[in-house]
Amino acid sequence: MRVGIGYDSHRFVAGRPLVLGGQRIPHSHGLAGHSDADAVAHALTDAVLGAAGAGDIGRHFPDTDPRWTDADSLDLLRRAAAVVAERGYRVAQADVTVIAERPKLAAHADAMAAALADCLGCAAGDVSVKAKTNEGMGFIGRGEGVAVIAVATLEAR
Ligand code: MG
Repeated sequence: MRVGIGYDSHRFVAGRPLVLGGQRIPHSHGLAGHSDADAVAHALTDAVLGAAGAGDIGRHFPDTDPRWTDADSLDLLRRAAAVVAERGYRVAQADVTVIAERPKLAAHADAMAAALADCLGCAAGDVSVKAKTNEGMGFIGRGEGVAVIAVATLEAR
């Protein structure tokens, strides 16, 4: 078994849709980024790649490459799962915590988990998404952005 951890954060900006875990979530602001800025997908992609010893999202999908401009980050996660498969592993399980003061995300957690599991080739019950606030503290508490932590485990195929 192999374990990987991923972290990502993105800043809120006006004029973009908010996309987390592949779900378009109604909010006054979206997240700044080169792709769709889906911090949930990005953190999980880093966890999956890290568990395989395969580097990180920036190495595989650099933001200097126009191919990934406005990319669907679920597609990047799917590609990361393929990288892992090439190395002889499959994703066994993943756990994600998304930290945002607003909007409230708990109602979207199951839909995010199902979309992420589909990308990874896991059963829905093998991917967990949890939503928390930061109790008003720091950049998250001030509503400046969101942060995400993800853990993934791999097993031999
Ligand atoms: Mg990111």
